[in-house]
Amino acid sequence: MRSVMITCPNTNKPVDTRFGLPYEMLASQPIETASFDCPECDKWHIWRMEEAFPGPELEGQEASFTLVNRFENEHVKVLDLVTNDEGFPQIKNTHFTDCHLIGPAILFPRTDLRWNSIVRSSMLMMCAEGQSYEGLIVVDNGSFDRCTFEHVGIAGTMDVLDRLLGAN
Ligand SMILES: [Zn+2]
Repeated sequence: MRSVMITCPNTNKPVDTRFGLPYEMLASQPIETASFDCPECDKWHIWRMEEAFPGPELEGQEASFTLVNRFENEHVKVLDLVTNDEGFPQIKNTHFTDCHLIGPAILFPRTDLRWNSIVRSSMLMMCAEGQSYEGLIVVDNGSFDRCTFEHVGIAGTMDVLDRLLGAN
């Protein structure tokens, strides 16, 4: 598995996009554009999938999608981002800004998630403390800034849901 590279438009140097999937899996993604904070020029770049080329071979941890993934100004199907490499459905290390997230999906945000998007009360499903639930998508280490949602529910304990409503 190889990392995903683009050519920095400001320095013309190849730069690792730190994309959340290896290069070999790009073709199977319904995503057309992605964005990242470029370490070459310190600017934010939005790049198209067809601009990408394969970089160095990923090793160890990095090969199992622990890279940070960012989406900006995109329509994203939630289920396309779900991984199962820890034995349960989850989306991790993923940051969404000004995105439209499309379900069907029920997210289960971990408490460290940054949530800065409007939620409707009809999206919220309360979970009992200490009870485990099947089929939820755990969202770990990420953020939702100014996102909108379509057919997406959010499950959580009362504390978590209160905090999400408080973000409105
Ligand atoms: Zn750059």
